[in-house]
Amino acid sequence: MTTPIELFNTLSGKTETFKPMKGSEIRMYTCGPTVYDFAHIGNFRAYVFEDLLRRVLKLNGFKVHQVMNLTDVDDKTIQGARSKAITLAQFTEPYIKAFFEDLDQLRIERAEHYPRATEFVEEMIRLIETLLKSGHAYERDGSVYYSIKKFPNYGKLSKKTVSGNMAGARVDQDEYAKDEPCDFALWKKAAPDEPSWPASFGCGRPGWHIECSAMSMKLLGASFDIHTGGEDNIFPHHENEIAQSEGVTGKPFVRYWLHCRYLLVNNEKMSKSKGNFFTVRDILAKGHDPGALRYLLISHHYRQPLNFTLDSLRAAEKTVRRLNDFYVRFTEAETSTAAPKSAVRETEKAREEFRSLLSNDLNMPEALAVFFGWMNEANISMDRKILTLDGKQAGLAFLEDFDRVLAVFEKDPAEVPAEVRQLVEAREKARAGRDFRRSDELRDLIRQAGFLVEDTSKGVKVKKL
Ligand code: AMP
Ligand code: ZN
Repeated sequence: MTTPIELFNTLSGKTETFKPMKGSEIRMYTCGPTVYDFAHIGNFRAYVFEDLLRRVLKLNGFKVHQVMNLTDVDDKTIQGARSKAITLAQFTEPYIKAFFEDLDQLRIERAEHYPRATEFVEEMIRLIETLLKSGHAYERDGSVYYSIKKFPNYGKLSKKTVSGNMAGARVDQDEYAKDEPCDFALWKKAAPDEPSWPASFGCGRPGWHIECSAMSMKLLGASFDIHTGGEDNIFPHHENEIAQSEGVTGKPFVRYWLHCRYLLVNNEKMSKSKGNFFTVRDILAKGHDPGALRYLLISHHYRQPLNFTLDSLRAAEKTVRRLNDFYVRFTEAETSTAAPKSAVRETEKAREEFRSLLSNDLNMPEALAVFFGWMNEANISMDRKILTLDGKQAGLAFLEDFDRVLAVFEKDPAEVPAEVRQLVEAREKARAGRDFRRSDELRDLIRQAGFLVEDTSKGVKVKKL
């Protein structure tokens, strides 16, 4: 059951039917975090969008080979290590660990590779050597710059023109040696007490943009299917990646460029520099459910800006609870033999529609509307006790698709911590021995640990509060 996938391509400015380069395997690159601090939930809007894309591609039968880089050398990481008088690796390691913990909290599927920039410096040097040879790059005072006038297609992604001054370019203070203000650094000359690598064009360290060209082409090939990021990556970062990569290979670098819009706070971009951010840890410390944060981020269309408020997070919490209650109710529902067959057809139709809306440029808001419409009907069938076995099977298949993409249902008993499981077992023993006072005390302890224990006809159920 596959539907053609339509994706909005920033490169063409249009929605296009997606065709992978090689059979059913998709090669995809995602710009990952700069590991100088904890990522904020604006960054995670981008990572949740990429997770959605990956899951929708997989739901449609594709195999996804995804690479997400870790930028572990740049101005900020160097500055951070220096201020604490530790090595770059000592400084970045705790943030890398924290990043993976946050990915898990948000149930973001792991990519196939997480290359670290510091492990690919040789590849970066090779690319810069080629660009120097072909005349796309020049050396000044020990640093190397890309000459954007040597790449006539510069601006094809962002639709910016050199004459329009390429507003928004990050122009480093120390790059006074460049021929043109819009040229960008491929290699920065070694400075005292900074990490540096030897190269034929001088000892130094890579610029940020070359890191992604090197890691993506090394791990995915000169041309690959999809490249993603947040909207601020379009210019200059992705424009520069194209100039570097195509400058070296002469081949189209990436076929589909996808970008998500910002997560906003009071209608301003959430960002470190504005100080208007929350980390995933901040959200958890306030007692919120990470599953609800995931739901909030994934439920809005990725090409629409999303204004974050704690009220919207609370609303997402309620929805996630409602979805989980429905999940338990439906999976445990008794079936009847006296019901109309049409419920199966309606469920299959809703499931098809849900999948095809997601395949239509990840239209999650409409896909969710279809799901909630079906959920209401399913609740009515259960109230009336007219859910048939076929209807239930069709519904379970729909729930499975839903959760392969949304990952919102609490179905893994392993998610209940061991100490809570022990309390639950002790409570069952107390009940079996008719010690109801003890069993009530244990129920309270379980509740204090954030879980609810319910006695159903099919045994004891434990739910997250
Ligand atoms: P950075 O560490 O700044 O390179 O950002 C990592 C990723 O987060 C990139 O894909 C950015 O485009 C994305 N990003 C940063 N801020 C936001 C935001 N407020 N909303 C959505 N994506 C963002
Ligand atoms: Zn990148």
